[in-house]
Amino acid sequence: MKPRVAFFDFAGCEGDQLQVVNIEEHLLELLELVEVVSFREAMTEHSDDYDIAFIEGSITRASDEQRLKDIRKNAKLLVAIGACATIGGINSIKNVQDMEDVKQYVYGDGAKHFDTYPTRPIDAVVRVDAYVHGCPIDRKEFLSVVKSLLLGKKPELPNYPVCVECKKAENICVFENGEFCLGPVTRAGCGACCVTQGSICWGCRGFVDDPNKDAEKEVLAKYGLAAKDVIDKFHLYTANSELAK
Ligand code: SF4
Ligand code: SF4
Ligand code: SF4
Repeated sequence: MKPRVAFFDFAGCEGDQLQVVNIEEHLLELLELVEVVSFREAMTEHSDDYDIAFIEGSITRASDEQRLKDIRKNAKLLVAIGACATIGGINSIKNVQDMEDVKQYVYGDGAKHFDTYPTRPIDAVVRVDAYVHGCPIDRKEFLSVVKSLLLGKKPELPNYPVCVECKKAENICVFENGEFCLGPVTRAGCGACCVTQGSICWGCRGFVDDPNKDAEKEVLAKYGLAAKDVIDKFHLYTANSELAK
């Protein structure tokens, strides 16, 4: 019998689930390996009988916690997909602001009806067995993680910085142009796609396990920048990170 998988979403834009739906030529390959029993983005059927739960989105209110714990109880394996689930993601921007101001700004007169609290990643509430990083996730990386799990292996994620891939892509470092970037401390795996496309690395894949803070500070100092300059600019994805505190 094929392993049964289910997808669940918390606070997020559903862009990661969309990536799975759009997995195109690999969709049949995926369906040969697993049986999808719940996936609101793609089907109406639902079952609470599943082996692997994929979780998208972050935890932003007390009522999310029990729902997530119930999913954890049902699943043999739980996988966080996308930056909102793996590191708190864009929703964490509110964590560095006054929560009442945030509620007022978003909900206006209806603010009192919403019980939102500082955003947390999935592993702040339940145990997570595997991660698929990115905003949104990369479809090939998603498949590779699924295959590893089905083989009973721990998925291997790159534990070196985006700069390595950026150099391989022969990009001119944005520091040379007076910009700055989170590539030196961010987990690789995306091929430094944002820099290659003319932007900068915003850190959507989270930090490497043991970011070399000293080296990062040295690079910043060389360009006349302080760590605080970078942290202040990069709250987009890193507000929840220890490194950013
Ligand atoms: S990680 Fe990005 S794509 Fe995924 S739900 Fe969050 S905002 Fe959307
Ligand atoms: S542009 Fe960013 S990711 Fe690329 S080498 Fe420079 S710091 Fe690293
Ligand atoms: S370059 Fe940085 S922001 Fe862009 S996908 Fe890679 S990790 Fe995310």
